[in-house]
Amino acid sequence: MKPFSSPELEFALEAVTDAMKVTRAVGAQLAHMELAKEDKSPVTVADFAAQAVVAARLSQRFPNDKLLGEESSSALRGPEGASLLAKVTEFVKLIFPQADGAQVLDWIDHGHAKPEGRFWTLDPVDGTKGFLRGEQYAVAFALLDHGKVQVSVLGCPHLGLESDFQKNGPGTLSCAVRGQGAWITPTGLEDFKPLKVSDHAELVSLQVLRSVEASHANASNMESVFARHGIFQPPVLMDSQAKYAVVASGKADLFFYLTPVNRPEHRMKIWDVAPGSLVVEEAGGRTSDMLGAPLDFTHGETLAANPGIVITNGRLHDSALRVLRDVQASRQAAQ
Ligand code: AMP
Ligand code: MG
Repeated sequence: MKPFSSPELEFALEAVTDAMKVTRAVGAQLAHMELAKEDKSPVTVADFAAQAVVAARLSQRFPNDKLLGEESSSALRGPEGASLLAKVTEFVKLIFPQADGAQVLDWIDHGHAKPEGRFWTLDPVDGTKGFLRGEQYAVAFALLDHGKVQVSVLGCPHLGLESDFQKNGPGTLSCAVRGQGAWITPTGLEDFKPLKVSDHAELVSLQVLRSVEASHANASNMESVFARHGIFQPPVLMDSQAKYAVVASGKADLFFYLTPVNRPEHRMKIWDVAPGSLVVEEAGGRTSDMLGAPLDFTHGETLAANPGIVITNGRLHDSALRVLRDVQASRQAAQ
């Protein structure tokens, strides 16, 4: 028996499972490829193919539902896009053996709806750098209705909460339904365990997660400011919305994105935040922007009203906001 009652979550778990088959297949090829450091083509193939698969599944199961995905098909169209489209189609065929290029283009563009009313949002490969390194990445998928996240799934093909959560875990799906709870399951979708945040209330015992890309967290001075507040534990570095699953599980207490000091207007995209936020909230945690305001998903593609993101176990949230204000102030002073 599943611990939730939600046809939308049942669907989303299956769609993300299919997308993960595709991203894993691309990832397996990656291991045998000699890649130039800057070559992003494998992640591009995984991104497009996973979006096509989820969009196709959505149009079958909920034909009236809209989708806002990260990818658009323009790079796959015309003669310049033909070889990339052929590669993407090869991976989509793992799920839809009859698929052809024209259909793949249509499916990808099904993910370009206006984000209003009831709609789904998808980051087909969140954490592209992690994907390329063979470390953490996530297929992140959520249903929103008038700005409220209702259902979320984070498919994390390398996350294993029993073991080292940095890489090479067996894979997990974390999921949530608003008002019902949050759960984690091995990718077989059989054994759902409730997710629950930690109950740490003291900064001294805080375990912080941070983006592997230091420029995403924007906290070059973080360790020294944290030490001033009595936090000495070094952060665990991790790409993608896998961080939300780890906070929801209670294995870490906090992570954040501050706005870049020289680009204070920078805002996150809805597909980078909405799926993870419900998983943390339904596990008992708290989400806000870096000033403490609630996350506002009513501004379309970007979180226009929310500078930065702070995710915690809840009990530490107000203290964390104070520490992060200090981090930001000392960065501004150093400018
Ligand atoms: P990460 O948690 O490091 O894997 O990043 C998650 C997402 O946030 C990625 O899609 C990044 O592109 C985006 N992101 C976060 N902060 C920044 C930033 N300062 N500049 C550009 N992209 C960012
Ligand atoms: Mg992303």
